[in-house]
Amino acid sequence: MLLKRLTEACGGPGHEKEVRDLLRQEVTPLVDSIRTDAMGNLIAAKNTGASGPKIMLAAHMDEVCLMIMGIEKNGMLKFRPVGGVDPRVLVAKTVVVGEKRTPGVIGAKPIHLQKPPERKRPFGLEEMYIDIGCSKEEEAERLVSLGDYAYFTTGFENLGADRWKAKAFDDRAGCALLVELLRSQYTTPVFGAFTVQEEVGLRGAATAAYGIDPDLAVVLESTTASDTPGSPDHKHATTVGAGPCLTFMDRSVITNPKLVNRLRSIAEDIGVPVQMRRTTTGGTDAGAIALTRSGVPAAVLALPCRYIHSPVSVLSRDDYQGALKIMQAFLQRLPESEVL
Ligand SMILES: [Zn+2]
Repeated sequence: MLLKRLTEACGGPGHEKEVRDLLRQEVTPLVDSIRTDAMGNLIAAKNTGASGPKIMLAAHMDEVCLMIMGIEKNGMLKFRPVGGVDPRVLVAKTVVVGEKRTPGVIGAKPIHLQKPPERKRPFGLEEMYIDIGCSKEEEAERLVSLGDYAYFTTGFENLGADRWKAKAFDDRAGCALLVELLRSQYTTPVFGAFTVQEEVGLRGAATAAYGIDPDLAVVLESTTASDTPGSPDHKHATTVGAGPCLTFMDRSVITNPKLVNRLRSIAEDIGVPVQMRRTTTGGTDAGAIALTRSGVPAAVLALPCRYIHSPVSVLSRDDYQGALKIMQAFLQRLPESEVL
């Protein structure tokens, strides 16, 4: 299954090769042309000669992870996050480090040794380390180098009747949706951009959009679901299982209202539930794309995702299928429908 392979692959910001290789193999037979730009974005194109608006669909390949920043005398590894990782979720998680995928455990002082005030606060990054089973610096240096990335090891699994669990649904779920969309035939030019370095500031999307020069763009994402115990209903940014969601605004972009309304009315038309994201936090590739050249109308269609940016996240299969149906209908109804 593609989504399983994509989430179990490792690709931190700037190190997306494994994910890109997998996607290139999958997408090459589906498109007219495919290339990798200088930043590492994978850009696939269909119907480039056709008339009609040039559509850019984007999903980012990178995932949040950790970077090795020091090797201690006792063989333990010090690290920093790459992208927004909550340090409170790290202790006792398993990771793999570097290209050799050396297994490791994120460690910290055990509870028996903590003083009462220490037990009341979470560990800071400087108090944690990765234990790869070495007892000397030189031993660890044979397995790991400074700058290596460490990745969470969560495997893909079905969860309950309609859910999936895995690492890196943000944004491998968007990548999988984009591959599915490239399987169909359309009458307009469609560019699929699998972007790099989103998690460190929407960097790849900027050069990808400049190269494509699209008329409009839809970003396929995974986004925060806060439908968890203790969070009142009206504070749920999105709810898992209630349909994919559209964004009015986030930290990076105010989405194009006509494009958002178009996607919303298509969802209604084909009977797929859709939610409006009830928060304005976070940023997406839409922010970088919208500001490209003289501006690009952009929207975000995202899947509600619990525990996002942690070692494990949860998605709804129905939300995923719903997003696919909305985007297929949107693309198939172009160009006869004037979007903008
Ligand atoms: Zn994302």
